[in-house]
Order: sequence, then structure tokens, then C-alpha cells
Amino acid sequence: MSQLFAVIGNPIEHSRSPLIHQQFARQMGIDLVYEKLWAPIDGFEAAVREFMERGGAGMNVTVPFKLEAFDLADEHSPRAKRALAANTLVFPQEAGGPIRADNTDGIGLVNDLAFHGVEITGRRLLILGAGGATRGVLEPLLERTPSALTIANRNPERAYGLVEEFADVAGDCLLSGCPLAAIEATPFDLIINATPASLARQLPPLPDEIIGPETTAYDMAYSAEPTVFMEWAASRGASPHDGLGMLVEQAAESFLLWHGRRPDTAPVRLALREAIARTEQRQD
Ligand code: NDP
Repeated sequence: MSQLFAVIGNPIEHSRSPLIHQQFARQMGIDLVYEKLWAPIDGFEAAVREFMERGGAGMNVTVPFKLEAFDLADEHSPRAKRALAANTLVFPQEAGGPIRADNTDGIGLVNDLAFHGVEITGRRLLILGAGGATRGVLEPLLERTPSALTIANRNPERAYGLVEEFADVAGDCLLSGCPLAAIEATPFDLIINATPASLARQLPPLPDEIIGPETTAYDMAYSAEPTVFMEWAASRGASPHDGLGMLVEQAAESFLLWHGRRPDTAPVRLALREAIARTEQRQD
């Protein structure tokens, strides 16, 4: 019998997770059903329990339920504990067993950067945004020992909070926070846009001096066309990437948790890129 999985969120219609997991499953010869599950804002737990009663084996969790998913679980991986948020749930196969929570967003980003050949060790990093995504990626980035990591946020208090919280894993890395307007005006090696601004076709107000031809500019958002952040980076000679690969890589880590095997992400990146181009053409 097919195993049952889902991605839960609100909204959820746009999610590409079913396509990704179905491609992984085909590659591995695994029989599974992967659904999109919409839950009302105040109905996350009820939707999860109902899914478990239907025999659900695992679930991906997206906006806005990652914190609730963490709270609902009985056991948490160290990286979920760090993020205080979960994007992956593993359900017990026997009644009364624990619900386990993990967070694969951070390793997804790090694996995608490695895929693109982007160095982290010894480099100067800038992260724009201090929300859930930044929280999820900070530890895996710091573990790769950048020389400096600056978190710049619209509300600087949130950036300062993260600096304090992650000081224990910063090691020799110079970890600091600042408002967007006060970013040090010299080119960074890697700038990660962890704000949703690109989804609204907005560019955070950034000094031009922070980017140069040696900079890699990574937008966690993705679309068929380059995002405004990627266009801004490319116009200054930097190398831009979007977050499509991060999405596929975090999914591969969830797949590994559920099935014990890690799929090859390269063909799925291509398939997803094509699927997005087809959908966005239809929407034009
Ligand atoms: P949150 O809502 O938790 O945090 C958003 C952050 O962005 C906040 O720090 C907020 O600042 C800042 N921000 C929001 N809008 C703007 C703007 N217009 N200009 C400048 N700053 C802004 O979101 P998440 O951290 O969960 O997600 C961030 C992005 O990352 C989303 O686009 C999400 O889709 C993407 N993502 C992609 C993944 C992938 O696999 N590719 C995985 C996870 C996330 P303030 O604190 O001042 O409000």
C-alpha cells in the first residue's frame, strides 16, 4: 500500500512539494501519495491529527505553521530546537508513539550553495531579514566558519536578538546585526536575501557599495524570471541565484528522514524549473 505524505500551509495551492516528492519517489522506486493540505489559520493541530488518523506517515510544513509544528511535536532534532520551528514532521506508525519534528531548511540552503560552488568558510556573509528562514539557516552557516556574518533587518531589534541567541555557535566568526540602512559599505562575498520582498517585486533599500563582481547574491525566493534582487545583483556584476535549489535540497533531506535514502536532486531541479516556467507562461 502507498505511504501517505502531505505539505500543509495557508495558502498552499502554489506549493511545488508534491511534484518534488513524487519525482524523488519515482527515482527511488517508492510508492507514495503526497497531498497538498490547506488548514485554517486556527486549525493546524486539528488538520494534523485528522491526517494522522488517515494513516499519514509524514508532513512538510510551510508558512505560517512552522512554529506551531514545532510546538505540536513530542521530540525535536537539535536543528529544529535551534530554529524553534519545524518544516518536517515524522508521525508514529503505532498509536501513542511520539511525533518527531525536524528542520531541513538550513541544510537545504547550505547544500544548494555547495551545488553552486559557493564558498562559506573564511568569507564575509550578509543576511537580509531576521525571520524564521534566517533563524533556520544561521547555525549551519556558522558551522562552516565564515570570517564575518552580518544580519541586517528592517527592524534591527530582531537582528540583535538573533546575534545574541547564536553567539554560542559563532566561534571565531564576527557575528553582528544592524538596520538595513547601516550595512557596512564594502562588498560582501555572499549576500542572502531572506526577506519575502522579491515576492512583491520589491528590493529592500540597500547601499550599492555592498555588492561587487566577486559577490554571490542568493535570493531565497524563486520564480521563472530572475527576481528583482537577482536583477539588482546582476546589474552590478555579481553572480545571482534563486531559492529553487534550496527548496529541492530541503525536500531531499525530508525524504531522507522519511525513507532512509537521499535522492539525486539534479534531475528534479531541472524538472521543477521547467514546471515553473510552464505555469508562469500560462499565468501571463
Ligand atoms: P518571516 O515572515 O519570518 O520573516 C521575514 C523577514 O523579512 C523579516 O525579518 C522582515 O522584517 C523582513 N521583510 C519582510 N518584508 C520586507 C521588505 N519588503 N523589505 C525588507 N525586509 C522585509 O519570513 P521567513 O523568514 O519565513 O521567509 C523569508 C523568505 O524566505 C520568504 O520569501 C520565504 O518564501 C523564503 N523561504 C524560501 C525557502 C526555500 O526553500 N527557497 C525556505 C524558507 C523560506 P521585519 O522583521 O522588520 O518585519
